[in-house]
Amino acid sequence: MRVLDILECTTVDGPGFRTSIYVAGCRHQCPGCHNPQSWDAKGGVDMSIDDILAVVRRDPFGGVTLSGGDPMFQAGECVELCQRIKESTGKSLWCYTGFTWEEIHSHGSREMVQLAEMVDVLVDGRFVMALRDTDLLFRGSANQRLIDVPRTIECGCVCLWQRD
Ligand code: SF4
Repeated sequence: MRVLDILECTTVDGPGFRTSIYVAGCRHQCPGCHNPQSWDAKGGVDMSIDDILAVVRRDPFGGVTLSGGDPMFQAGECVELCQRIKESTGKSLWCYTGFTWEEIHSHGSREMVQLAEMVDVLVDGRFVMALRDTDLLFRGSANQRLIDVPRTIECGCVCLWQRD
C-alpha cells in the first residue's frame, strides 16, 4: 500500500501514545485542508503489510491510528492491515476519514464498511473551515465526530466516544 509517513509515539491522533500511519491519497479536496500533499494516491512510498507491522510492533503498549490522506481510498489494504494488527497485537485502532459514517454505510464499498466497523473509533467527516476549532479534541472542525464503533454497532445509532 502507499504510505506517506509513519509517526511513532504521537499524542495528537487519539488517546495515549500511538503509532500513526498516514495513508496516501484523498479525493475530498476540503478547502483549508492541512495537508494537500496527501491527496496524491501515488505519493509516499510502497510498503507491505509486514513492513508496517514491523514498525507497529516496535511499541509494545501504544495504539495505532490510520490517517492520511483518507484511508478509505485504500480500504481493502487497510482492512488487511487492521486485521493483522488486531490478531497479532490487540492494539486499539482509530481511523480518520473524510466520509461520514452514514455515507460509508449508504454508498461505500464493502471494504469501506468493513474498515469503518473494525476500528475502535472512527473520526468521520470532511474538514470544514467555517467550523474549525483548535480546542477540539483529536479533530479539526466541529462537524467531525469521534464515533465509538463497538457501541454504535451495538446500539444501531451513532454513539460518540468519551474519554475515560
Ligand atoms: S479529508 Fe482530510 S486529507 Fe482529505 S482533503 Fe479533507 S482535510 Fe484534507
